[in-house]
Amino acid sequence: MSDVDGLTIVGHPLVQHKLTILRDRNSPTQLFRTVMRETATLLCYEVTRDLPTALVRIETPVAVTRSPAIAGKKLVFVPILRAGLAMAEGMLDLVPAARVAHLGIYRDPATLEAVEYYFKAPEDLARRLAIVVDPMLATGHSAIAAIARLKAAGASDIRFVCLLAARPGAEALRAAHPDVPIWAAAMDEELNDHGYIVPGLGDAGDRTFGTR
Ligand code: URA
Repeated sequence: MSDVDGLTIVGHPLVQHKLTILRDRNSPTQLFRTVMRETATLLCYEVTRDLPTALVRIETPVAVTRSPAIAGKKLVFVPILRAGLAMAEGMLDLVPAARVAHLGIYRDPATLEAVEYYFKAPEDLARRLAIVVDPMLATGHSAIAAIARLKAAGASDIRFVCLLAARPGAEALRAAHPDVPIWAAAMDEELNDHGYIVPGLGDAGDRTFGTR
């Protein structure tokens, strides 16, 4: 946990090591994208830690037995475009049967407010556990808007996973959606005047796709 209620910091050494690679400005695009994906796989392991299981009957080569399998709600990953895409790939590596909903939101550079431009979700969204993924929880505007959009579309069981949370964004998201728990690899204290997380890792979308 952290001192922000409902925010879990994943302190695993592998996650922390990979986060350091992602923070390093000298990490090139290909390495950044690969490590972002790997880190998301590890974060996925944590966010799914409490999924219910039920015993199913199987036959091993030696005997009939009962063994646990995931039960309960099926998953839908919801990457916020575009920076969430590499993270969603890493989560699909672990849960390949999950569905994916895409949510396009950009930050208006002047107001830092969230503007939606695309939304496509599976029809059974309301029956799934929705895991929203966006590497950077900065002001929280995009995350708050994304979760409001999902709720309007029927989702009621929602979790949020990011790589880096800024304290102001984490607090704003928890205040707006107290029913939505958050997982992050780390929390940084500050945002700069442009809404970037400090020390952060820069623009996650640009660094993932090499657009700057
Ligand atoms: N989005 C990013 O990509 N980086 C930040 O630091 C904040 C928002």
